[in-house]
Amino acid sequence: MSRPSPAARQRSLVLLILVLLGCGFLTTSLVSYYTALDSIRAGIIHTELPLTSDNVYSEIQKDLVRPILISSMMSRDTFARDWVMAGEQDAGQMTRYLGEVQAHYGTVTSFFVSEQSHTYYQSKGVLKQVKQSEPRDAWYFRVRNMQEPYEINVDADMANQDRLTVFINYKVFDYQQRFIGVTGVGLTVDAVVELIDTYQQRYNRSVFFVDTSGRIVLTGAQGGPMGAKVGQSLSELPGLEDLMAKLPQPQSGNFEYQEQGRGHFLNVRFIPELDWYLFVDKQENGALAGLRQSLYLNLLICLLVTLIVISLVSIALRRYQARINALATTDQLTELLNRRGFDLLANQALQEARRHNSPLCALLLDLDQFKELNDKHGHLAGDEVLRGFANNLQSDLRQADIICRWGGEEFILLLKDTRPEQARELGEKIRQQTELSRFTHNGSNLQITVSIGLAQLQADDALNQLIARADRALYRAKQSGRNRLCEETA
Ligand code: GH3
Ligand code: MG
Ligand code: MG
Repeated sequence: MSRPSPAARQRSLVLLILVLLGCGFLTTSLVSYYTALDSIRAGIIHTELPLTSDNVYSEIQKDLVRPILISSMMSRDTFARDWVMAGEQDAGQMTRYLGEVQAHYGTVTSFFVSEQSHTYYQSKGVLKQVKQSEPRDAWYFRVRNMQEPYEINVDADMANQDRLTVFINYKVFDYQQRFIGVTGVGLTVDAVVELIDTYQQRYNRSVFFVDTSGRIVLTGAQGGPMGAKVGQSLSELPGLEDLMAKLPQPQSGNFEYQEQGRGHFLNVRFIPELDWYLFVDKQENGALAGLRQSLYLNLLICLLVTLIVISLVSIALRRYQARINALATTDQLTELLNRRGFDLLANQALQEARRHNSPLCALLLDLDQFKELNDKHGHLAGDEVLRGFANNLQSDLRQADIICRWGGEEFILLLKDTRPEQARELGEKIRQQTELSRFTHNGSNLQITVSIGLAQLQADDALNQLIARADRALYRAKQSGRNRLCEETA
């Protein structure tokens, strides 16, 4: 089985880091998003909506429950009952009584309708006679026939710029429990409506009251959820119709429902004093839009960080690979090319020389009696000389020339575009320089000479043939006394 190339290994490493970072970031972003989502949902359901409901409830209590108590007291008032039973003699007495109630409790109106005479008394005097045939008087006959002792009726008050007015209609009985009329007060629910408007407009919540038959009885001045008006039934409202199908009657509790793909949270509270339900509704979208935005921002930052990390890792890997490649082709001691590096470049140089038909020469150099130097001064001294010799070689050569530590104390030079005479001249210069060079190690002066074999590239030479000829020339140089340059003889 073939091993994957370094580039393929790098690619899979980068891919692995990408997957790990991506999965890590995605997981933490999504986990924190869903945790925040849960806590926001819990906050809305368990704190926000019940708190709104509490505030509206206490306001409505102030505005409605107190008038019910007042009306209840009026229905038990002995003066009013005695006066009716005595034949409604002096209307002034009744209107004074109603005027006192209205002034004292600050209601919009106070009234008494007599069953016997069908007269409608107000604080200002006798208003009219109620008639069964008159639609506007239907409320009286409804109250007369109902089981409950009282009802709360929300109506626009025509006498009061159509402001939403709540009438408490209380049945009145004589001392033998015979029905003798209806009394009560009327009041505006401006404070409640204002509060509902604040919650609806400022906090994006829908606040409305629903009676036990599912009819909206009170909401903000601009209407209720999705523009619903007082008098509409819950079953006519998009989204709520499904909820009502599940709950035939409103029920206290927390609900979640969908309206045209939008989620809603709903808190319902039953108010026994009114026999109404208070609904507080909040759309999920508004509450979670900010959170969703921060998730997208988070993911964008994660993507950027991943891209930056991946680019940095890729650059580092490429540099590391380049460094490994350099190490693999470089000799550690002299920092010249090693054989592996030489092979790569030399074959290229040979091909070029053939293609351009240009001359190319090889010089094989071997330090003389190097073993002796090692034996006498130590291996470290030998290393110092090898380093110094390599340094000198480099400064003698052109950038394009190829210099390699061939092994031990042997070096090879490939000289491009160089004829044998020029190569000999250079070789001779190196030989002389080496002879004159002094290297120092631990205070000792070290001296060395070099033998050189020169060969020229022939038309159909392979690299090893060229080197073999240079080696033969070097052998001759050694044989003929060292510290000299010999040339191949073909
Ligand atoms: P000749 O003139 O015939 O070349 O004699 P020589 O002693 O140079 O030749 P030989 O091939 O017998 O010995 C080469 C010596 O070079 C032996 C070896 O210890 C030494 N040598 C090879 N590589 C290194 C090295 O990296 N550092 C040191 N200090 N010595 C080395
Ligand atoms: Mg040798
Ligand atoms: Mg030698």
